[in-house]
Amino acid sequence: MNIILLGPPGAGKGTQAKRLEQTYGVPQLATGDMLRAAVKSGSELGQQAKRVMDAGELMPDDLMVQMIEERIQQPDCAKGFILDGFPRTTAQAEALDSMLTRHGTKLDAVIELKVDEEALVRRITGRYSCAKCGAGYHDEFHNPQTPGVCDACGGTEFRRRDDDNEATVRSRMEAYREQTAPILPYYETAGILWRVDGMADIDEVTRQIDDVLRRAGALDGGA
Ligand code: ADP
Ligand code: AMP
Repeated sequence: MNIILLGPPGAGKGTQAKRLEQTYGVPQLATGDMLRAAVKSGSELGQQAKRVMDAGELMPDDLMVQMIEERIQQPDCAKGFILDGFPRTTAQAEALDSMLTRHGTKLDAVIELKVDEEALVRRITGRYSCAKCGAGYHDEFHNPQTPGVCDACGGTEFRRRDDDNEATVRSRMEAYREQTAPILPYYETAGILWRVDGMADIDEVTRQIDDVLRRAGALDGGA
């Protein structure tokens, strides 16, 4: 099961990728999470990533392509992967195709989460996650069942992303519109683009994605 979840910041890619990871045992490869880990480590890449992310801009294609190529060769990707946040430019999409061909595999489906831009600002400014396990929550739409205690791991500390503020969100949306949305026709032409209603509630979006995975034959390989 090699799939991409595509959509603007806040569309619900991470939320759904984590659910798919649980259900199908295929890892979520989130380039934003990888970059945040680099920022935390204080590496040179992390320092560059911090500047770029705070500005709501995109990291250079070659760095991101290399990061993903290394990641998909790890043993936990043997049954496939769920890409979240990659590709974000046409150059990344093309590089992904040729890397998969080189590794003897291909994409099964690209799933676009369709959402209203105004709803995204509300989603992003209300987003927070468990500091221990990374489970995602939202002030209005999805709080833990016991207030202040993570449903997934029982953790009691939560954090918010530095770039989840209204000013940066606008730049990130613009980057999506100008650099990422143009990828959609590329996958449409390839016949592997599917759309789901990202405005539906979280369970309904999961249901629609499952339906797409079945129809696209993405579950046939045992994942
Ligand atoms: P992305 O990974 O695409 O940036 P997230 O999965 O982090 O987006 O979702 C952004 C925020 O919106 C999170 O706080 C999440 O809990 C919430 N959210 C995700 N999907 C939905 C949905 N279908 N309805 C309402 N809120 C949602
Ligand atoms: P995300 O967690 O997907 O919202 O990504 C957070 C930030 O990381 C983005 O705003 C970009 O600055 C950077 N980033 C993540 N993935 C990529 C990518 N594939 N290409 C370029 N920049 C990326």
